[in-house]
Amino acid sequence: MIRSVLALLDIRPVHTRLIAERHDLHRYDLIEDKQKFLDDMGDQIRAIVTSARFGVPADLMAQLPNLEVITSFGVGHDLIDLEACRARGIRVSTTPDILTDDVADTAIMLMHATLRQLLAGDDWVRSGKWAAKGPMALARTVRGRKLGIVGLGRIGQAIASRAIPSGVEVGYFGRSKKAVDYKFFDDLVALAEWSDILVLACPGGAATKGIVNQAVLDALGRAGIVINIARGSVIDEPALIRALQDGTIAGAGLDVFDNEPNIDPAFAQLDNVVLYPHLASGTVETRDAMAQLVVDNLDAWDERGALITPIV
Ligand code: NAP
Repeated sequence: MIRSVLALLDIRPVHTRLIAERHDLHRYDLIEDKQKFLDDMGDQIRAIVTSARFGVPADLMAQLPNLEVITSFGVGHDLIDLEACRARGIRVSTTPDILTDDVADTAIMLMHATLRQLLAGDDWVRSGKWAAKGPMALARTVRGRKLGIVGLGRIGQAIASRAIPSGVEVGYFGRSKKAVDYKFFDDLVALAEWSDILVLACPGGAATKGIVNQAVLDALGRAGIVINIARGSVIDEPALIRALQDGTIAGAGLDVFDNEPNIDPAFAQLDNVVLYPHLASGTVETRDAMAQLVVDNLDAWDERGALITPIV
């Protein structure tokens, strides 16, 4: 038994119960006096359960001297200091692959919703404008467009394979050229210039902070759209809002934002964006599978000192 597990969230009720049955579980999110808990119990915590959204704050990690393992619910690890983990010999796992399909589906959903004006269409029907004013203005087709993917990893490749049957051509930008037939760009501005639709599917964190900046949005141009299922930090958000307001680009479909869930209120005033509440992996089936993998990683660590899906 891993003596004490500190959970920063309830991953899924059933799975949190499973962890509590197998380990001595402490729910950090429910503890009122967190500092007292850390003073009393910090040296007993061997494992953390967290998520891509919560990560592990540096000051928390510093107060857990015997921490052995971090099991995270989600695949992004920009809020976990992996270098600090390596330095302390702390192992880290995430939940890759099992969320890839739902996240890629979300990118495709946002792409179609943005180009085909799904929200305006819904409003046209509900508000009675259809009956009062006749047909809504025409939207834009996906077919024949160029789709530029930033980060052709597991999710990026799943997006490409879903988009191609819709008649798009795929290009990508990333740190390395992949063994695929899609057009590779080693420069993000050049990819944006080539693209009609720019989809962000790379990790967040310092290396990608603000890489989709004013120059990239200018290059994408007035008919271009941005789809972001990566992290809010990948886009220079003030530049994106300006570009949406002044028509530098045509629209955006966004699952992720800076400062979630208290996002910039300017987004709600824009009628050329489709907004989604960071729910790309948010289906019951996928979230259950992710939670089970967190449980299985903890058990694997407990039973044989190994992780099933380690990243460190
Ligand atoms: P992955 O397989 O590791 O793919 C990441 C891709 O990004 C790789 O192709 C990588 O290129 C590329 N990349 C890494 N650093 C880069 C940089 N500095 N500039 C450009 N490209 C870079 O990960 P994944 O499973 O596809 O997930 C990708 C990201 O999606 C996650 O990190 C997370 O932020 C986001 N995500 C979001 C949600 C959501 O709910 N919205 C859910 C899951 C994941 P190389 O192969 O050359 O290293």
